[in-house]
Amino acid sequence: MKKIHKKIFIRNDNNKLFLYGYNLHTENPGDELPLSDISRPHMRWNPSREEWVTYSSRRKDRTFFPPKEYCPLCPGANLNYPTEIPFSNFEVAVFPNRWASFNSHADNVTIENIYTKPSKGECEVVVYSSEHLSTLADMSEERVELLIGVWVDRYKELLKINDVKYILPFENRGVECGVTLHHPHGQIYAYPFIPPVIKKEIEAFKKENFIMKIIKSSEEKYYVNKNEHFIALVPPFARYAYEVWIVPRRQIPGPWKFNNNEINSFAKIIQKVVNGYDKFLEKKCPYIMGLHASPKLEDDTFHFHVEFYPPLRHGDKPKVLAGSESMAGVFIMDVLPEDSAKILRKFMQ
Ligand SMILES: [Zn+2]
Repeated sequence: MKKIHKKIFIRNDNNKLFLYGYNLHTENPGDELPLSDISRPHMRWNPSREEWVTYSSRRKDRTFFPPKEYCPLCPGANLNYPTEIPFSNFEVAVFPNRWASFNSHADNVTIENIYTKPSKGECEVVVYSSEHLSTLADMSEERVELLIGVWVDRYKELLKINDVKYILPFENRGVECGVTLHHPHGQIYAYPFIPPVIKKEIEAFKKENFIMKIIKSSEEKYYVNKNEHFIALVPPFARYAYEVWIVPRRQIPGPWKFNNNEINSFAKIIQKVVNGYDKFLEKKCPYIMGLHASPKLEDDTFHFHVEFYPPLRHGDKPKVLAGSESMAGVFIMDVLPEDSAKILRKFMQ
């Protein structure tokens, strides 16, 4: 893998904009966005579910009124309006979300009989490309490798922060998944606690490495793509039709343990999956994608993997988390994972 350069630009609000690339970014900045209010999120304990809910009420006094077609993630120096990235070009850019659900400015509130805490942590936006219409499926393999390098850097940097207990890089894609900005980007949440889903996974991996078990016994039945270092498969216990996990063949806690060959294989298989989804639906497939890594850099039970959830029931019919899923946490499926694996395998080769 080629060397990655990282340039830190200090914004007018004193936050850092990171410019990652195979070339060192040397351009002088154009106009920056006007200063905006800082979000001061807080958390409240939900005693019924025994989990945190975070609240970040919308700031008032927006001073900036962009035009309708405005994209805040495009390179700003080429436009008539400032954007988050005040340059004419960049490879991958990372900056703190202005409307973060977790940040270092978090405040607490007092509510009688409710346990609350400031929502410490970080929320970052990761812009994959300066090209507005690009997607993970069609960008160069080198660019996806760069993105993997950026995730690894963010894991290492964010885990150094005292308040941070867990890092989740994720991507929501498509209006069906609530996306309003179509410029290719993902996000990283650095939580001040280990989220409930991950907590359960950590416990599960302590009991047994269920990913290794699937690889050993059922790889042929469930895979949709595979290479030397990774398998993309529909988990036999999928909760969404067309759910896909990308799993490394060896047990590693997170992508920071990848060697160069693994980074290349990981980039390849991510693109096969996203591309395959798009071919299957004959359009940009909506999905929620997240990286599940261990909360610790060293860990010999957690098995890193990526999960993709397209919000589909079968074919292109939308899946709604309705009565049983929302009220009881019980997923009701009408497509068998072994059948969706057969379907997706045709598109993900
Ligand atoms: Zn854009």
